[in-house]
Amino acid sequence: MSIFCFCNRKGKTPRRLPPKKASNSQKDPVGVYCRVRPLGAEDEECCIEVISNTTIQLHAPDGLKANRNGEFKETQYSFKKVFGIKTTQGELFEDVAKPLVEDIIHCKNGLLFTYGVTGSGKTHTMTGSPGQGGLLPRSLDMIFNSIGPYQAKRYVFKPDDKNGMEVQNQVDALLDRQKRDSQTTVPKTPTTRRIDPEFADMISPEEACKADGVDEDSSYSVFVSYIEIYNNYIYDLLEETPIDPIKPKPPQSKILREDQNHNMYVAGCTEVEVKSTEEAFEVFWRGQKKRRIANTQLNRESSRSHSVFIIKLAQAPLDADGDNVLQDKNQVNVSQLCLVDLAGSERTSRTRAEGSRLREAGNINQSLMTLRTCIEVLRENQMCGTNKMVPYRDSKVTHLFKNYFDGEGKVRMVVCVNPKADDYEETLLVMRFAEMTQEVEVARPVDRPICGFAAGRRQRNQAFKEELTRRLEERGGPLDGESPTVLNQLLQSFPPLPPCEISGPNDDVTLPRLIEALEKRHKIRQMMIEEYNKTANMLKSVLQEQDSNLLSKENFIQEQRGKLGEKDKMLQNQKNEIDRLEKKSKMLEYKIDILQKTTNIYEEDKRSLQHELESREQRLQREMSEKRRMEARMQGIVTDSKLKWEKECERRVNAKQLEMQNKLWVKDEKLKQLKAIVTEGKTENRQPQRPSREKDKVPAKRSASPSPVPTGPPVRPLHRRSHSAGGERWVDHKPNTNVDLDTVLQPNLPNAIKVNAPSEKALSKCDKYVLTHQEVASDGEIQTKLIKGEVFKTRGGGQAVQFTDIETLKQENPVAASRKRRSSETGPDGEPKEGDWTDVETRCSVAVEMRAGSNLGPGYQHHGYPKRRKP
Ligand code: ADP
Ligand code: MG
Repeated sequence: MSIFCFCNRKGKTPRRLPPKKASNSQKDPVGVYCRVRPLGAEDEECCIEVISNTTIQLHAPDGLKANRNGEFKETQYSFKKVFGIKTTQGELFEDVAKPLVEDIIHCKNGLLFTYGVTGSGKTHTMTGSPGQGGLLPRSLDMIFNSIGPYQAKRYVFKPDDKNGMEVQNQVDALLDRQKRDSQTTVPKTPTTRRIDPEFADMISPEEACKADGVDEDSSYSVFVSYIEIYNNYIYDLLEETPIDPIKPKPPQSKILREDQNHNMYVAGCTEVEVKSTEEAFEVFWRGQKKRRIANTQLNRESSRSHSVFIIKLAQAPLDADGDNVLQDKNQVNVSQLCLVDLAGSERTSRTRAEGSRLREAGNINQSLMTLRTCIEVLRENQMCGTNKMVPYRDSKVTHLFKNYFDGEGKVRMVVCVNPKADDYEETLLVMRFAEMTQEVEVARPVDRPICGFAAGRRQRNQAFKEELTRRLEERGGPLDGESPTVLNQLLQSFPPLPPCEISGPNDDVTLPRLIEALEKRHKIRQMMIEEYNKTANMLKSVLQEQDSNLLSKENFIQEQRGKLGEKDKMLQNQKNEIDRLEKKSKMLEYKIDILQKTTNIYEEDKRSLQHELESREQRLQREMSEKRRMEARMQGIVTDSKLKWEKECERRVNAKQLEMQNKLWVKDEKLKQLKAIVTEGKTENRQPQRPSREKDKVPAKRSASPSPVPTGPPVRPLHRRSHSAGGERWVDHKPNTNVDLDTVLQPNLPNAIKVNAPSEKALSKCDKYVLTHQEVASDGEIQTKLIKGEVFKTRGGGQAVQFTDIETLKQENPVAASRKRRSSETGPDGEPKEGDWTDVETRCSVAVEMRAGSNLGPGYQHHGYPKRRKP
């Protein structure tokens, strides 16, 4: 019994291609497909999105996003093809398993496994359910649909116990068949679909499909095995052991062996020959049942075991007659398709297992881990050219599959995923494994055509048989007891024998006639033999010719095939390169997308910052112009107040100047008067001290304060001052207190404005000013003084009077005049005189110092200083 025979190559005939490793350099990546099952409930959170027929996208569920800040929250995974929730079992089969079935019929091995978390749809995909048959029943059905008419009789092929296949002779096969028929326990091949209801209607007849190019000159036989790997033990699910319901015997585990071609197989594993889909289903179902019972009895969980269903197809050429299978073991070709439903790929923590369960789960995981490691090492070896040891032996599953990865065959994996968010983390691990697996390459199985005999033997044989039957029927069918052989037919074509009943020993009539007839027959026979030989020779030469033709054609075909292979190789390489580039470009597109998004965000930021900058600039501009306006205003205020203060200063300076001039003038005047008195006194009293005092005083004064009047020293002949220029205008100031005098000498002021109190208005219109001042002189007479001055415009816009002259009008009693005068002037009481001067001086100075609004009484008012104009 053998389980893992990849190709029976014992004693290859020269017609076959040389063994795998020497010839086969073409490799194909493991075909990884993804199937997404529908959500269990509509309200479940979904974490998978099918975004194209080759790509899915994983979304981290909300709860998980927080602690995955470093990674992309969305990851894409590409597959050879992605099957969405609406994919039917038939569609999946069409893409995934049909090519593998075609391969097995053309002598190539295949391995198909489903991988995924428990509940993701592995069993649904592999086995299916009534009305929705999975890949396994569909594969079986396609095989039988294809080889149906060319199947060998049961027991013609017989597995040896070393993973090989023998051809039994007709008699042994017949005996075995008879033995089987007599065993009532083994059901006969059902002619109708008499099968377990649980397995009924897996495939509807209209879905049936068939492989093309089946070699009709071969005979076929299908063998199935079904094993389970649980806790790293291998169990044969088809082993016929009586089940004792009371004291169940634990199933015996099997071991792996290597055959002489270094292929791994399960030693002693049952291989059941099946002749129809239904029968194969039944065998599978038997195994399923056994598995279920064992799980229940031993309290195991089926999701933790790997189940492996092996379909082995034996084929051998028909003999030259096209009648029987060629009795040559070396001509038998065996190929197989392995259908594996792997254990759930979830981590131990999820199974919440305890005790021995935990150990089981650990082992399950260990085997999947080993599978992972093997794939990893293989990939590394292939990609980096390293030669690391792949740890196939670490687990039974990988050990069993070893030949697929380091030998040849087509390997396909269907990754099943449940899109629910709860599975997210485990699905992520599944995806990573899938991604890695796609990068592993497996040697492509080579074509091994069987070309031992001329093609079309089965058909020719059939045609000949038909022709024979037709001719026999034409002849009215064979006589009773006669076998419808060719000889019989030929005999019938000879001339009939005359009646040969001999009447006596001397029957001269009958015997010569018989002799004649026989001689005639003999002659015909000779002619026929000659004819036959001639035809045979001709045929032989024709055949030989054909043979040589065929041979050259075959050579040519071989040559072309070689070329084709090369081209194929090139094409495949290019295809792989394209695939790789496509994948890369997809990844780059994704990255570009992300970068684009980031750029958009930055641009948005930039725009908002620019906007802010602009608004700030505008604000700044506004503030600057505000500042400039303020500055201009301040400048205005400053210049205004500067001007104001300049004017004020000027005004004060002028006032001070005027005051000083006035003081000077008054002092000068005093000095003059003093001088006059002194000179007068000199002439009269000859007082020697006065002039010296005068002399001392005047120059000192002069030097200290030069008169502001440019007309010269203030002491001048009085008459010279009294002039009346026609163009001058006067302010004639006569206080109300003045008494009108009947004097002859009266001031004549033409063109004068008379005022009794000084007014600024009047002053502004005039350039001369005169104050008529009356006082009682020392002799008791009224003395009138005309104090004259010039009006100046001050810089501040006011008027100032600079006193320039005093004219004195005095009425005198001619008798007492000189005495009185003298006494008043020279009397010991110098006070009145002094008082007079003091009075004038004081008034003058007051006139200068007086400020607007001062209230100095009527005596002083006429010295009024012009009111300051308001600015
Ligand atoms: P697994 O073998 O991976 O543990 P199953 O194949 O037993 O998962 O699937 C679990 C459940 O989900 C089953 O009831 C099955 O019918 C259902 N299921 C799985 N895949 C699909 C699918 N593609 N369409 C409909 N139902 C599915
Ligand atoms: Mg399952």
